[in-house]
Amino acid sequence: MIKDVLEQSKVDLFKSWCEEVNNIVIVTHVSPDGDAIGASLGLAQFLTQQGKSVQIIVPNSFPDFLRWLEGANQILLYDKNKEKADSYIEKAELICCLDFNVLKRIDEMEESVGKASARKVMLDHHMHPGDFCDLTLSYPELTSTSEGVFRLIYRLNGSDGITKSGAEAIYTGMMTDTGGFTYNSNVPDLYFIIIQLLTKGINKDQIYRNVYNTYSEDRLRMEGFVLYEKMQVFPEFNASLITLTNKELEKFKYIKGDTEGFVNLPLSINGVCFSTFLREDTQKKMIKVSLRSVGSFPCNEVAKEFFNGGGHPNASGGEVYGTMDDAIELYKRALIKFQNLLVNKK
Ligand code: 5GP
Ligand code: MN
Repeated sequence: MIKDVLEQSKVDLFKSWCEEVNNIVIVTHVSPDGDAIGASLGLAQFLTQQGKSVQIIVPNSFPDFLRWLEGANQILLYDKNKEKADSYIEKAELICCLDFNVLKRIDEMEESVGKASARKVMLDHHMHPGDFCDLTLSYPELTSTSEGVFRLIYRLNGSDGITKSGAEAIYTGMMTDTGGFTYNSNVPDLYFIIIQLLTKGINKDQIYRNVYNTYSEDRLRMEGFVLYEKMQVFPEFNASLITLTNKELEKFKYIKGDTEGFVNLPLSINGVCFSTFLREDTQKKMIKVSLRSVGSFPCNEVAKEFFNGGGHPNASGGEVYGTMDDAIELYKRALIKFQNLLVNKK
């Protein structure tokens, strides 16, 4: 049997609030990933099945490899439909905040969600939840928010609460937040959940292909370029750095989502336990920072101290409002500061 991670009193409160309302809005973080979209669609399917009117609103667009998910084409993009989205948020009676812990993570939506009169519920697995929700279901021990959505639905309605397309969404989120069950994935409960999802008829092999094997030729060639020319390895720090400027991205006809996974590649080098990826974003006038580690190295501390960000100990990120050279300089300082934790690892 699966362990009860979610507190009963919180599950009960969520249930009674749901019973009282009809209009529910689900929101998730900027640049939504597989877990953000999977958790949102998984919960939306359940609430819709309960007769609720549900609208998912995300700050900006999400990768193409998530578009096959049922309901993905009804997701409202805030940056493209501000008025419509604001009106949903204003009329909402309940707002579910999924896969983020502080309002800053929803970017431009921060203001309207922050001032909305609806009750707010957080369901998330990031550490240090902020205090902006009326009910906070925050469990850093969960591998993904999608796992949290499964646990919530399962506690409310058992496996009857899960539809096939809901199961596909939840599986997608769990799979993407664990790199296809290759990290953070030793919790036995995960496999109990997967059995439940498979029983709903999902095709996990097809889901893997839908998400991971849909590259464009340019995307795959960019990966070759990154590995051959752009990856620097610092064996004395067990660390690696990849940088991509806007010009380089354009050369490979970059579209959103294309660089997903690059940061994990150097971790397949024997000895490397800390990988950093710096991507220039000229539109937002910043350098987006992605950090990954294996083992006990806390890259979220690096994110917090040097890159104005945060995240999980093994997967975190941040932003540098400056040039690529500024970001590289910060990276070098971070290596020296964290040198003691980096050596003798893996
Ligand atoms: P990614 O490298 O995939 O963009 O982000 C990995 C994880 O790092 C995310 O799931 C999120 O927890 C965290 N993260 C990424 N960017 C930021 C950021 O700018 N601020 C904070 N606080 N966390 C971030
Ligand atoms: Mn997540």
